[in-house]
Amino acid sequence: MAETEQKQSLWHYVALCLLCLFALLIMAPASAQVAEDPALETRIDRYLAMVDQTPEEAERFLDEILAEINSATPVVTRVRAWGYKAVNLYYNGETEEGLRYMQRALDAAESARVPDALAEATAVKIELIRSEGDTAEALVLMPRLDEELEQTHSPRIRYYAHNLAARLYHEINQLEESLHHLLAAYEAVSETDDERTVLRRQFLNTNIAYIQSDMRNYSGALETSQRAIRVALDEGFTNQLPDLYLLRGYLEAQMEMSEASILSHEEAIRWGRELDMPGVVLVSMNNIGSTLIADGEYDRARLILEEALAEARAQENERTIFLLLFNLGYIEVMDGDPAVGIEQVREMEARLKEFYTDREYADLLKYSAEAYTKAELYLEAIEALTTQRELNEEIFRSDREQTLNELATRYEAQEQARQIELLEQRNSLQERVIENSKLQQRIFVLFVIVVVLASILLFVAYRAARKANLRLRVANKQLKYQSTHDPLTALLNRRSFQHEMAARAERIDQHIEQRYPDALLLLDVDYFKQINDNHGHSAGDTVLMELSKRLKEISRTSDMVVRWGGEEFLIYLRDMDPKKLPDFTQRVLEIIGQEPIQHEDKTIRVTATAGFISIPFAGVDEETLNWERLLQIVDMALYIGKVHGRNQGLGVMGLEVPYEQAKEMLEKDLSGAIERGWVRSIVLNGPDIPA
Ligand code: GH3
Ligand code: MG
Ligand code: MG
Repeated sequence: MAETEQKQSLWHYVALCLLCLFALLIMAPASAQVAEDPALETRIDRYLAMVDQTPEEAERFLDEILAEINSATPVVTRVRAWGYKAVNLYYNGETEEGLRYMQRALDAAESARVPDALAEATAVKIELIRSEGDTAEALVLMPRLDEELEQTHSPRIRYYAHNLAARLYHEINQLEESLHHLLAAYEAVSETDDERTVLRRQFLNTNIAYIQSDMRNYSGALETSQRAIRVALDEGFTNQLPDLYLLRGYLEAQMEMSEASILSHEEAIRWGRELDMPGVVLVSMNNIGSTLIADGEYDRARLILEEALAEARAQENERTIFLLLFNLGYIEVMDGDPAVGIEQVREMEARLKEFYTDREYADLLKYSAEAYTKAELYLEAIEALTTQRELNEEIFRSDREQTLNELATRYEAQEQARQIELLEQRNSLQERVIENSKLQQRIFVLFVIVVVLASILLFVAYRAARKANLRLRVANKQLKYQSTHDPLTALLNRRSFQHEMAARAERIDQHIEQRYPDALLLLDVDYFKQINDNHGHSAGDTVLMELSKRLKEISRTSDMVVRWGGEEFLIYLRDMDPKKLPDFTQRVLEIIGQEPIQHEDKTIRVTATAGFISIPFAGVDEETLNWERLLQIVDMALYIGKVHGRNQGLGVMGLEVPYEQAKEMLEKDLSGAIERGWVRSIVLNGPDIPA
């Protein structure tokens, strides 16, 4: 049988290691749209150029670069340098330190949120996790990397990350996904144009060819590999030729192009020998043998396989030895002694089982079954085929399970991310709700404070206003009192009497009936000037105050006692029986004169002269004979009293003639009217005063 699988994974391993370096090497100066430190970037490029040739020197150089990096260095450059250091340390066995650098790069990228830096850091993380053997965990990060790559400018980073992804998917046999990433990497390469562009393309072409082969797209793979061979020849990438020819030979064999396949393998052998790649040489020889077997050319097959066997033995390559012996046994069965051959087939089949994967072993069993059939060992043939079928089913199942598992893991990761996103949304919503209610609370508290403050202010203002009102009312009252009263005696003043008379006029208009008329009694203190002169002005004041008090005492509450002038008093008596008026006047005179007034150590005797009259007078209406005129008459009566010796009262009691007749005399010459008998009058004497 021909062998490709094992060789492919070996090739892949080498290729993958190279890939990493290539990725790091190849697209260094690319990212134009992201801020980076050009000087440092150039030095990192130099580091990459050195790393292949002089790894230790390169390492020192990288450390020098790292020593110059600080927080002012653009994040893209920082992440790149730390990423390289991480990968480097990791592959040198310093895994912990490597992981630390990786985390540093990741933290820097995450806090800066620059897509290029994020993609590179994530890719480094995936690479390290994958190297740890945790493919599922690495796959979990893939959706995130995909997202970040969509916004990544730098072709270097895209190339590196897509290659990494392709490797990862190839590992879990998701070939289409792997191919998709290789093509994306190819696209990234197209954006670069430097001396390495061809090499990068070549590398990708080779990988694409292997994937196509694995996908059993043999014609596509053949085309790609042919292109790769041409480029390798043109560009002088000779070290790729052994593997490329081996691949081409394998593909041609699959397409039953025996002659071409043999030629390709011969090329692989030639280049393999030249470049000292014995593994490729042995596999190629075996593959030629297999092709010849398939064509029934057992002699030629035997020849080359035996040659290969000798070389394998020299190299102590057990696995290849067993395979070659198996194939030789198979030839023996087909074209020699089946009994001898079948023993060898059976033994080698058992040996190879230990080396082979299930898939490889299942492929091998196909040839075993053919050999058993040829040897007429039908039961064993059936057993081999049954085992093969079971293995294939098992492989199919586990492939499917693996795929399903990976799918489930990825789905879970996506679902988790979705859930986290949902939770975050819900959280931010809740936060907003909480903030709203906090705001509402604050507004409410503020509102309460404002209301309370406003109430306090209002209350204070209200109290102040009330106080002011109160003061105003007091002031008004005082003002009103002052405007109506005499300050010395506290009696009503002339103004309030005039006011009362105005009110009286209104009452008359309303024809308010009363039993008796009112009366006016005017008083003037006798010789008051002398009191002042003899005892001092304050003694005069005391006399005025004392007299006021006495007058108030004998008056009714309905009467008005008014200080009319300096030492003149007017008593306005309401509803006063005219017959009783003389008696009242008599009492007034007595109350003034009978008891002397005490001022300090002085005893002062006082008398007064009065005139009095009823109002209205003698049935004459007040429009004709108003209070002012009556007061004039009373004043005359008082004057008459003064003239006739004082300390007496003269009452004008009535008319003996019609008013019209007496009118003039009455107002101008009262004593004349009295003498003529037109006016009825009465004279009252005041109390006797001891000399
Ligand atoms: P007659 O008997 O003729 O009325 O003489 P008389 O001295 O009382 O009259 P006259 O009009 O000559 O004097 C009144 C005096 O009253 C003059 C004035 O100085 C005094 N007088 C007026 N008002 C006051 C006052 O409020 N207090 C004091 N102490 N004297 C006053
Ligand atoms: Mg007087
Ligand atoms: Mg007087």
